[in-house]
Amino acid sequence: MEIARTRLTCPECGEELSRAGDDAPWCASCEWNLLTPASKLATRWDRALFAEFSKQRPGKPPRTPLGVALVIVSVLLGLVPFGLLGWGAWLLANGSWLIGPPLLVLAFLLRPRLWRLPGKDYRLRREQAPTLFTLIDRVAAAAGTPVPEIVTISSEYNASTYRAGFRRTTGLDIGTYLFATLTPQQRVALLAHELGHQVNGDPARLLLVQPTLTTFGTLANMFGAYENMREVVFGGKSMMPMRFLMFLVGRVFLVVQVALSVLAFRDRQRAEYLADGVAVDVAGSEATAGLLDRSALASPIMRLIAYRANTKGPADWPALVAGFHAARQEELCAYRQLTLRESTLWDSHPPSGLRARVVEAWPQKAPAFVLSEQESARIDAELARWYGRAHQRLLD
Ligand SMILES: [Zn+2]
Ligand SMILES: [Zn+2]
Repeated sequence: MEIARTRLTCPECGEELSRAGDDAPWCASCEWNLLTPASKLATRWDRALFAEFSKQRPGKPPRTPLGVALVIVSVLLGLVPFGLLGWGAWLLANGSWLIGPPLLVLAFLLRPRLWRLPGKDYRLRREQAPTLFTLIDRVAAAAGTPVPEIVTISSEYNASTYRAGFRRTTGLDIGTYLFATLTPQQRVALLAHELGHQVNGDPARLLLVQPTLTTFGTLANMFGAYENMREVVFGGKSMMPMRFLMFLVGRVFLVVQVALSVLAFRDRQRAEYLADGVAVDVAGSEATAGLLDRSALASPIMRLIAYRANTKGPADWPALVAGFHAARQEELCAYRQLTLRESTLWDSHPPSGLRARVVEAWPQKAPAFVLSEQESARIDAELARWYGRAHQRLLD
């Protein structure tokens, strides 16, 4: 969203108020009226983490009581399908054809699932992009982490690390819209942040808490929690009382699911500050803060490249976006604040505005190595096919 001045003055400090779209104006200088009732609760948590980590860089992977509790819940939930399988099989063996089979079906539906590996179409091979892979090698060496086993490319303004498949293959996903628009050193920061998650073991931890994130959602779905209550009660369907009861049970599962997800995502947020620390060590403080500001500016940047897609292609994006970013230096503080207003309880990441401020609060660090313009341009050439695809999506 674009931020505009309003000519209204702040009742607290008398400065001019800012406004984003049609939303309520706020004061960028004293943060009066910045938060909405919804974001107030979420940002209380955000600010607690901010206060903790802006004073001191987090040192090692976080092990919080909440994180330990989530793993225990996950292990217990992970055992449920096996219990159901055994119980169902035992009932079947004893001739109970009424209850045995549904238990087996339930066991199957709740089975632990490993994320599937992305299709070959999205994978990038080393010989297709030698310069990019060399950069990943350098970042991995500087961060002290193994090189990811697969690299995938997606059309997103994002990047991620994951573990997937039976062998729990490590993967790095690079979103073209984000990568293509960054400065060379911000690219180093992006890769270092993502590989930083591998250093800290975050993808493995995420896989471990997966039952917490999915079991109750699956149950809620099975019990018809997403059905319309009016439909269930007045829709004239058969077995109404039974269906209504299931609907209610489903709704309870749904509430449990939302609560567990909020806790799991919130616990994960600490890991983001740790990964930002790795990015600072490898790419330097300036590039890391710049990367986080590009994240705070995500929606206006996406709108800009989409709006100019007819005349500006991927080759023009870095200059276009750098110009846009530079022109908003004065409003940058307000853009960072806006990420707080948009904060929700179920965000997997802390507001990027706060992350940028945390990075600036830490002792400033010079980069471990610098990616040259030439190398960066060579990577662009290697990714031209994927950039073209991303550009085409904007034109469609
Ligand atoms: Zn004010
Ligand atoms: Zn991250």
